[in-house]
Amino acid sequence: MQAVRLHAKQDLRIESIAPPMPPKADEVTLAVTAAGICGSDLHNYRTGAWITRTPSVAGHEFSGIVTATGKGVTHVSAGQRVIVDSRYICGDCPACREGHGQVCDRLGFIGEAIDGGFADAVTLPARNVISAPEGVPDRHLAMAEPLAVALHALRRLAAPEGTEILVTGCGPIGGLVALLARRQCNAVKLVERNAARAACVAEATGAEVIELEDLADLRLFYAVETTGNDAVIDALVHGIAGCGAIALVGIGRAVPLIDPVTLVEREITLHGCHAFTDQDLRDIADMLPDLTAMLDPFIGAQIPLDDVPAAYERHIAGEVAGLKTIICCGGA
Ligand SMILES: [Zn+2]
Ligand SMILES: [Zn+2]
Repeated sequence: MQAVRLHAKQDLRIESIAPPMPPKADEVTLAVTAAGICGSDLHNYRTGAWITRTPSVAGHEFSGIVTATGKGVTHVSAGQRVIVDSRYICGDCPACREGHGQVCDRLGFIGEAIDGGFADAVTLPARNVISAPEGVPDRHLAMAEPLAVALHALRRLAAPEGTEILVTGCGPIGGLVALLARRQCNAVKLVERNAARAACVAEATGAEVIELEDLADLRLFYAVETTGNDAVIDALVHGIAGCGAIALVGIGRAVPLIDPVTLVEREITLHGCHAFTDQDLRDIADMLPDLTAMLDPFIGAQIPLDDVPAAYERHIAGEVAGLKTIICCGGA
């Protein structure tokens, strides 16, 4: 089968490899239908930051059709379309037992901890698939994972209905946060340096684009930060209204940059937001039939597997229009 594997930092190859092993008792094998390229895939390729085994089939955002199930699997069966949960969790630490696998003691992600979805087929732990809703195209099923990340951030922020939410960064997560925020009746303001991306998200969601410098005059109380950029985080901590809250989703430099005195004196709440919970992904599966009509504006391109290495380079060079690149895999 065809697969895209990361061999080392900046060494991504399209290859012909053996199909995945048949499923063990608690595993399933999928024919992958569609997959999405994520900013974290590009980050890992550029920096090697999360490489623990090589080569590894990349890809953690994907959907597929079950082709085989292990003896112990009862919740899905062969022929069924499924959504994939990207979190590779231990399943028995206290966080996992509470349904908070996003903070599992031994958390990894599919595509890195085990082979992922940039391939024609993959074998996964059965707990990593949930049945897909009817009538949703594969390219949108493959967006369930980033949608769950966006939903989780909004739930952590817990802005009351009707309040305005500022979203910094119009990558896929920022764009999908804006979409879900509008759907739950919050007006959205956007900050994004790239005018084309800002316009794409504004048009798809009805949000308004503003300049970060104008923040202090607007008295906004709620923000979702998806850039991980030091200067943006600093501007938010100082520019959001006193008693405000910021959901941090973007990952940037791991250096202390927030002055705790500012947080105390301005009563700012920071929420760290990592991936999603079991419930978030189930809820996105339920919402997808409604969301499907709104997702195509977020898809910039649909490409075959053998174009993935070149697509990474286009993304890194900033030559990609649109927010999300979808890969059409062999199971489609
Ligand atoms: Zn992702
Ligand atoms: Zn765990």
